[in-house]
Formats: sequence, structure tokens, C-alpha cells
Amino acid sequence: MLDEQLKKILVCPRCRGDLEFHEDVQEIHCPACRVLYAIEDDVPVMLVDEAKPLSASRLQGRQGS
Ligand SMILES: [Zn+2]
Repeated sequence: MLDEQLKKILVCPRCRGDLEFHEDVQEIHCPACRVLYAIEDDVPVMLVDEAKPLSASRLQGRQGS
């Protein structure tokens, strides 16, 4: 589990926007950039270079256009 305080201060390194935490799949999503950041050993890998594209279908609760 990620530290609650850490989750509060973490922002997307690319857009500085809010993130969605999906710890069950060890991922942190940025809906604005449509990328995901991995969580490795409870450490978020918040590197733009390591971000992976997030397909629209994986954005939870944001269906539609
Ligand atoms: Zn972002």
C-alpha cells in the first residue's frame, strides 16, 4: 500500500495534475495525459520517460467522448 500522505502530494510529473491510484493493479493513472505510471515495490515510478500510454478503455469512470 502506498502512504496516504505520499498520495496526497503526488502529482503527474508531466502536467502537474491529479492522479488516480489503482493499487490493485500497481498503476497510477493520469487521465489528463492518458498515461500510466507503474508502482514497483510500493514505490511510484513517477518518471515521464517511464510513463506508458493509457488506452481510453482503461480509464475508469470516464466513458464517453
Ligand atoms: Zn498528467
